[in-house]
Amino acid sequence: MTGLPRPGPDERDIALGGDEDAILEQLHEWGWTDGLPVVVPTAERVERFCDHAVHAPDEVLGALAPRGAPLTTRILAANAVLAGCVPECMPVLEAAIAGMIEPPFNLFGMQTTTHPCACLAIVHGPVAERLRMNSGAGAFGPGNRANGSIGRALRLVMMNVGGALPGSTDRATQGTPAKWTWCFAENDAASPWEPYHVAVCGMDPAESAVTVAAVEGPHNINDHGSETAEQLLFTIAETMTTPGANTIYRGGDHFVVLGPEHAALLANSGFRRADVQAYLYEHARVPVARIGAKKLEEASGWGSYAAELSSWNGRIPIARAPGEIRILVAGGPGKHSSWIPTFGPTYSQTKRIGVAPQGRAREAASSVSFGGGALQGVRAAREPQPLASAASATAAAAPRRDAGAGTRGAASARPVPGATEQVVIVGSGPAGLTAALYAARANLAPLVIEGLHPGGLLHETNEVENFPGHPRGVLGPKLVADLREQAARFGARYLGEEATEVELGAQPGGAHVVRAGEHVLRARALILAMGAWPRALGVQGEEELRGRGVAYCAVCDAPLFAGKDVLVVGGGDSAMEEALGLARHARRITLVHRRASFRASPILVDRVRAEPCIEILTPYTVESFLPGGDGRLAAARLRCAGGGAPRDLAVAGAFVAIGHRPQSDLVRGKIETGPDGAVLCRDATRATSVPGVFACGDLVDARYRQAVTAAGSGCEAALDAQRYLDASGASGR
Ligand code: NAP
Repeated sequence: MTGLPRPGPDERDIALGGDEDAILEQLHEWGWTDGLPVVVPTAERVERFCDHAVHAPDEVLGALAPRGAPLTTRILAANAVLAGCVPECMPVLEAAIAGMIEPPFNLFGMQTTTHPCACLAIVHGPVAERLRMNSGAGAFGPGNRANGSIGRALRLVMMNVGGALPGSTDRATQGTPAKWTWCFAENDAASPWEPYHVAVCGMDPAESAVTVAAVEGPHNINDHGSETAEQLLFTIAETMTTPGANTIYRGGDHFVVLGPEHAALLANSGFRRADVQAYLYEHARVPVARIGAKKLEEASGWGSYAAELSSWNGRIPIARAPGEIRILVAGGPGKHSSWIPTFGPTYSQTKRIGVAPQGRAREAASSVSFGGGALQGVRAAREPQPLASAASATAAAAPRRDAGAGTRGAASARPVPGATEQVVIVGSGPAGLTAALYAARANLAPLVIEGLHPGGLLHETNEVENFPGHPRGVLGPKLVADLREQAARFGARYLGEEATEVELGAQPGGAHVVRAGEHVLRARALILAMGAWPRALGVQGEEELRGRGVAYCAVCDAPLFAGKDVLVVGGGDSAMEEALGLARHARRITLVHRRASFRASPILVDRVRAEPCIEILTPYTVESFLPGGDGRLAAARLRCAGGGAPRDLAVAGAFVAIGHRPQSDLVRGKIETGPDGAVLCRDATRATSVPGVFACGDLVDARYRQAVTAAGSGCEAALDAQRYLDASGASGR
């Protein structure tokens, strides 16, 4: 059975009555669907989607192979409606199309090969959250509207405009279910490495992007037993080592998508993304002996394969270069990852997702409802309406738009050498980012030195339930990303460096100098927001076993202790949160605290007490950490505060959560600090002992240390800095 004859949507002017069933049957008959029911693309719906697009409705986005038909924004919108998208998906689809028409992507090859090759779209950055995409458990599977409909819209465009008709122009021998839809979001919150579009394409984390790849469906990699990076990578490499893979003779880039637990194991063993790629390139090699003689002969005729055989020493790499094994993180709890191979002569493309220009789209966005939209659409379809096609969609054309307009100021800063900044902010937690927001809205164009740990402790936090305005809680990294984007919108700039040295001007109005990486920055006002960092217990064995069982962040390391016994030390909110986070992974958790009562909030203590796998041990102190034969933590020696002999508790992990130390080393001896290292502020303001230098957040506050109090003091610091600049005439206003 071959594919249906498929008139292109630009060849037909349709105007049916209001009978939706008849319209759907007609769409199936014309072959405009993928075989499943679609949403009727009424003119009203298509125009609404165009309102959310980056490009103008009649702008040609490209010619799609193999048919070579031009794809306009409006035709893309019609297919997005068919697929069941929401209008806000349009910029993602436009960026995906921009990737698919790049020559190295080889759309023609992908569309016409006998290989079961689908178009995968991976969405990166804040847009994934805005579209409520699934990047976690079951991300590759059903149940999420954006994941399902974005992939489906691309497939419909490839069929309806590109003309890939199964059985005729699409020559896939068997095809793949991934051709129905194949789209997911990167789980950057659970990734130990930078998001893919940031690390691989040098984009800003506040930007969004989509990667398109011509690939097969996912191949599962199960590994529940490995305890080291090498053991896990061995499993992954062996899974990839298959003589049936196209890549052994055709090259092309392909993806290893790590589940968060596997990724954490690799990162905690010190493996960076590049190390994983290098390992897999070296080890995922198919011995010539596993490739049948006939197949080897056939493969040798392709590309430079034969010429390379001797240099490969009888072991054929599954990729032609380490960088062609793309690494990212997606999925939820569990010990599964996947390999997503390709058909060969193709290279994935990552494109920045533009922002729809302000205007009608903004108005529409405020009234969008994921549930109500569909009902509205059905109502509209029951009234006599023309279906949209390039020729028949008749709604008024939207004003022309600039392609690829980005978020103002979201790009990383390139400071002008020798220039004096109005405001430099050191630190990028809630205090620094809120200071940036206020300073930016005062037209001070603040420059934020983000440091080695952008987002500060908030980035290490899982769910933040007590930041006002988030009734269902918000993930720490998401809150950071939002704060960052919000400040960027008003002109804040970011420098991804660590501040290593400051010279503070002594006189009012004098400039302060900050060294960050290669940059030497001069600032009229300086806002210090370096935060605080976890304190160590200072007991025997702690330093030696740090990273080998002794840890300070359960959010980061808990998956490493799945099914194991662990210890948490401390009696504050952090300790409670660590214990609760670990309860999702570890077998048994012992919470050790030096006093019988806790200073943590009662709500958290109650949750800990209600958790059956957590045992509370008070009043006990940790005397030392003891290594096992493998050099990793084996036990903690505990002693009851009331006296008695010590007891050894066998544990694989110990999480120390006993408070934080203000990160004031940068200004030590140059500014007034308290006995605990906190920077001291004066006169109930955020001014410090040095004129023009302000401080905020956990750096100054040992008492409250909440994300919201840090944000509040960041606001105060910016307002004080603004007043200082105004008073000294430096703000130029
Ligand atoms: P914290 O409130 O200062 O608590 C530190 C805990 O560690 C205390 O129980 C303390 O014991 C214990 N401790 C200190 N030194 C010790 C040592 N040498 N040996 C053994 N135990 C020791 O610190 P935190 O839990 O990191 O919280 C800091 C701030 O952040 C707090 O204001 C907290 O409310 C806030 N926070 C809030 C959330 C949230 O709202 N979700 C989450 C995390 C943190 P003693 O009690 O005996 O002094």
